[in-house]
Amino acid sequence: MKCPVCGEDCVNEAHELIDSMPSIFSPCPDCSSRILDKNIPPPPEGYRKPCRCGKRFIDEVYAHLYALLVNEGVFSGKEPLKAVGTPLVHPGFHMTSPPYLPENSLVLLSSPVEKKVAARMIQEVPEIRAVIKYESFTPGVVDPDLALPPKSYDLLAGCDIRANIFSSRAGSVVLYQQQSKIHIEFPRWRNPKIDAVEREVLRANPDWFVDAFCGVGKLGLVGARMGIAHVVMNDAWYAAAFWAAYNTLVNREFLEVEDVRILADYGKMSEAPVARKPKLIAETEGEQDIRVYQGDFRELHTLLPAEPVLAALDIFEKRDPAASAAALQVWREHVIGEAFIP
Ligand SMILES: [Zn+2]
Ligand SMILES: [Zn+2]
Repeated sequence: MKCPVCGEDCVNEAHELIDSMPSIFSPCPDCSSRILDKNIPPPPEGYRKPCRCGKRFIDEVYAHLYALLVNEGVFSGKEPLKAVGTPLVHPGFHMTSPPYLPENSLVLLSSPVEKKVAARMIQEVPEIRAVIKYESFTPGVVDPDLALPPKSYDLLAGCDIRANIFSSRAGSVVLYQQQSKIHIEFPRWRNPKIDAVEREVLRANPDWFVDAFCGVGKLGLVGARMGIAHVVMNDAWYAAAFWAAYNTLVNREFLEVEDVRILADYGKMSEAPVARKPKLIAETEGEQDIRVYQGDFRELHTLLPAEPVLAALDIFEKRDPAASAAALQVWREHVIGEAFIP
């Protein structure tokens, strides 16, 4: 599938990624696995090259990146290995041991890196897919009332779309995202929010399910995989709403839909990155009616039916009980049915 960011063929169908999970990060019998201490500099003899199977243990990839940072004068050679940055593998899923990385499987989030060394990393380290400048804020919308302007990280080199695979009782869901524009989430063995949605859906057996702060579509698509007739996803941030739409397309083989129509262009959406009045970004044709909007959750009721709706309000500030209570209250003023904070 054509990538909305770089235009190349870097998006896979959901089943291709799911089928790759057992083997994609496994070593061949010849792969070397030298475990390096992340709290000290790598050993002076340097890094090892990828195995003839094409994969390389993540620690060796890090030693390679470290050598480039020293060569470019960004590092003095005294920094610990972990100072290289945070690895985000593609596809990301719950793993029990560190990965052996094939080509193009790592998005690096790094604070010391600048454009020139990032370009060298892409050219010289085959495992690297993209390099993003890490900063200490959370990218995307962080405020349910949309008062704070959202920020993004800088993509320094490469194409930074990658997928996470989340498991649910109804099956896996593949979620692509553009990593510089969305908060970091990595699949763990269990996801309490997915558990909460499954529990509420099984209890309420709704005809309508709303994921009102959908991000890239995790909870909405779990609901859709459970077979709910009408699913509505919404996010005010363009890079969330667009990817929720795109992920509906990526996962369509698991849904009772004939077609997924994406009605918006990613580049054009970036010109109005936060929307208040909900705009339809995608809709499906077929037995299941799935829609994605970009807008303020407080306006979404204007597009919902006058019948009971089960709504998940996955608000970013849910550690703040007052913000959660306020969001639930606003929602319940306009929408009948039940609402919960997952
Ligand atoms: Zn791409
Ligand atoms: Zn190998």
